[in-house]
Amino acid sequence: MTKKLYQSDVYQKEHTSTIIDVMGDGTQENPWLLVLDETIFFPTGGGQPCDLGTIGGVAVAEVTEKDGIVLHQMLSATEDSAVTGFNAGDKVFCRLDWARRFEHMQRHCGEHILSGIFFRELGGVNRGFHMGSDYMTIDIDVPGITKEQAERIETLTNEVIWSNVPVTTRYFEERTEAEKLPLRKALAIDEDISIVCVGDESNPADCVACCGTHPATSGQVGLVKIFKLENYKGMTRVYFNAGKGAFTDYQNKHRILSELNLKYSADDKDLLEKIKTQDEKNKEVRQELFQLKNSVITKAADEILHSFGVPAKKAEVKKKNPSGSSRSFSEASDTLIHTSDRLVIREYPYLNVNDLLAIAKILSNQLESGILAVMVSTRENLLILAASGGHDCGKIIKDNALVWNGKGGGNASGARALFSSREDLECFVTFVRQAYSTRP
Ligand SMILES: [Zn+2]
Repeated sequence: MTKKLYQSDVYQKEHTSTIIDVMGDGTQENPWLLVLDETIFFPTGGGQPCDLGTIGGVAVAEVTEKDGIVLHQMLSATEDSAVTGFNAGDKVFCRLDWARRFEHMQRHCGEHILSGIFFRELGGVNRGFHMGSDYMTIDIDVPGITKEQAERIETLTNEVIWSNVPVTTRYFEERTEAEKLPLRKALAIDEDISIVCVGDESNPADCVACCGTHPATSGQVGLVKIFKLENYKGMTRVYFNAGKGAFTDYQNKHRILSELNLKYSADDKDLLEKIKTQDEKNKEVRQELFQLKNSVITKAADEILHSFGVPAKKAEVKKKNPSGSSRSFSEASDTLIHTSDRLVIREYPYLNVNDLLAIAKILSNQLESGILAVMVSTRENLLILAASGGHDCGKIIKDNALVWNGKGGGNASGARALFSSREDLECFVTFVRQAYSTRP
């Protein structure tokens, strides 16, 4: 059995131990597994992750316990390591990663106090505990705990922390003695029992069997904060954090809140109100945009339908573009604006694919048979073909777009193609212009 030094002094950060046994050869496939006569390293157990640190200057990868023997799994030695190997009988200097351990002590003890107060106030027993990297959870066997109840318990928990009461661990050989204490949970073991008590044993904030590591006073927990409540299998799952983790979370949330306040020219008191006002404004803008787009789409379709027979002169196209939604010749290349008696090509730099599809939908009912309409979105490097008889738009795309790396398809009355560059898009439009501007 390994002598567990953390049971007698949880604050011991360094120790020289003697190696009892060495398994493995220090390779990645077969790492060293060290057994020491006594150890400061807490092994994974009771919902608390193991300690890390160094033994003989080599980093500890994992610490587990089997039948009372603590096993220290080591990482491979590096060039900087103090030793190149381990042998039974060696004396080795052990050093804890104290920041990690202390955080575990804070979080673990925070969980004790919170669970103890849930038990005292609601009679709820903690049936499950998980310590994640960003938060912890406890499952209290009371369904539907409300936000108000949780807030009150959170406050009472922090009051226990501020009162800085002693946290004691007592060891019992037999359960009859241990059961005289006001335990939160019935004992599940018969011997070698350790009972942790937060506060006076006559009226403790928590009293329960536990093998983990705890600070000597509740004040060292620092802070407990509940984040979220969730219904879970007829119980309430409580998400929370404690100690440095809760403080780091507060710093992070404060940074986010400060950025939001700056963005909305607000402070903590009126931020939510200002966000609500902004949301209402955004809703109005979206409605206006919707109406404007509808108007632009209708005018763009009208412009195409009324443009046939007009010679493709720059000035005329500009004049016959009352909606302002498609570019004039002065802005776009000739390729993207074209009008003949069989083909019309328009570019709409500010419209997206759905807008172009809406234009195509209007055209597909009204275009004269044999006329092909091409709507180009240079914003998205795509185009839509529309026709009402006389062309198979889907086939035009299918047979030709791939030549310029275009992808797409559709049916006889409408089809779309997407290109990876503006150059490819323009080449395809030039092709359509040459192939379809005159009668076959
Ligand atoms: Zn504990």
